[in-house]
Amino acid sequence: MRLKHIKGAEEAVAQSPCVIHNPKERPGTWHELFGNQNPIHMEIGMGKGRFLMELAEQNPQINYIGVERYSSVLLRALQKMEEAPLRNLYFLCEDAAELEEFFAPGEVERIYLNFSDPWPKARHARRRLTSVNYLNRYKAVLPPQGQLEFKTDNEALFDFSLESVEEAGWQLTGCTRDLHHDPAMNEGNIMTEYEEKFSSRGNPIFKLTAVPPREHC
Ligand code: SAH
Repeated sequence: MRLKHIKGAEEAVAQSPCVIHNPKERPGTWHELFGNQNPIHMEIGMGKGRFLMELAEQNPQINYIGVERYSSVLLRALQKMEEAPLRNLYFLCEDAAELEEFFAPGEVERIYLNFSDPWPKARHARRRLTSVNYLNRYKAVLPPQGQLEFKTDNEALFDFSLESVEEAGWQLTGCTRDLHHDPAMNEGNIMTEYEEKFSSRGNPIFKLTAVPPREHC
């Protein structure tokens, strides 16, 4: 995501009732916040939020949380929420590296990663949201039957992610190198901002789904 400093973005995020400002005080209390026991799904690196807002609108029986670390990006989603509020969606303006401090084990049932930053340099591999250290963070907040869904147009990042999934002991439950021509995996697909941009240039979209490793006693 190209970063422009937008004046007032930090203040708007700080004042928004759609943003949870103290997530480290929240582990174990997210269902109270939503006021129901519906499952919680989360997108990490949500950008301007179109994907998540469409999901939230289509699925009122699911609670959604969007994580985006930059206020200037999140601002766009807040503006859309003001026009069309959704009661089953909250945002976090935080770094996903701290995820385990925000949620109790098993509190989030599904995590979406869409068009995550590729960090192409090998020395930055640990920053990739599908690296083993991030997968371990996701495992800590998902229940055993929890799900991870990852879409990208970046083949190198996708190959890296398949290796991480295997190395971290996750079970691959779905994999395609051309999502938009894979009728089964594309069913119900909601395009993200980046997905629309890259697929309109003719790039294939890669997708994998996976479940966390089963712990052995
Ligand atoms: N999911 C959107 C945006 C993809 S760009 C889409 O598909 O259109 C990736 C986004 O992830 C950027 O907005 C970036 O700021 C955010 N991001 C990257 N690393 C992050 C992290 N560690 N925590 C939270 N957000 C992150």
